[in-house]
Amino acid sequence: MPGEIFVVTAPSGTGKTTLLKGLMAADPRLRFSISYTTRPPRPGEVSGRDYFFVSPEEFARLRETGALAEWVEQFGYGYGTSKEWILQALDSGQDLVFDLDTRGARALKESFPQGTFIFILPPNFPELKRRLQGRGDLGPEELARRLEQGRAELQEIPWYDYLVVNNDLHLALEQLRAIVTAARCRAARVWPGLEPLFTSG
Ligand code: ADP
Ligand code: 5GP
Repeated sequence: MPGEIFVVTAPSGTGKTTLLKGLMAADPRLRFSISYTTRPPRPGEVSGRDYFFVSPEEFARLRETGALAEWVEQFGYGYGTSKEWILQALDSGQDLVFDLDTRGARALKESFPQGTFIFILPPNFPELKRRLQGRGDLGPEELARRLEQGRAELQEIPWYDYLVVNNDLHLALEQLRAIVTAARCRAARVWPGLEPLFTSG
């Protein structure tokens, strides 16, 4: 059975990284798609685990050689997804989780319409601002830019498959796990493998 694709989008500061870490820890069949970025690492971030941190020159080379399935320029940095990573993981039946902005998510939906697209919302905007500020790693300009972009991204919610509100962290994590389980039980995915057992003998 080919692997499943889960694409997760949320306004910056919603708690997506926290939730995805919890989801990955709870489900060893999920693998995180590690993006390339030209943004510098935040404290505690590790290259090859959180992102592949690359120079603008290296990022341009990846783009020009067609190594990226999609890429965007945002907050003054490049972010992109490795094409090879996706194909390898899907061939080996691994389920992949992508952390993408709305533009990247849309691009992946074109290539993988069978994927599951999940949008995560904060309970409200003042709380989003508090969380983003509380992270303590952004200057006032970048903070304002991320809040503004978060607001703009809400326009895209209608084409996503699922919406999760990250108010209570445990409840949100439970909902994400339920979505993963539901996607794995889709008849179109499961039946082709089971059908031979029911048509012979
Ligand atoms: P993102 O990856 O969406 O930018 P993070 O996972 O870095 O967000 O979380 C932003 C901040 O919000 C962190 O300090 C995190 O601990 C906090 N946070 C995440 N989820 C919740 C929640 N449900 N309730 C309160 N604080 C949260
Ligand atoms: P951050 O700098 O907070 O890690 O991420 C900023 C934004 O970039 C988030 O919305 C995240 O989902 C998005 N992002 C991270 N990696 C990629 C990627 O490979 N492609 C796209 N399109 N967006 C990405």
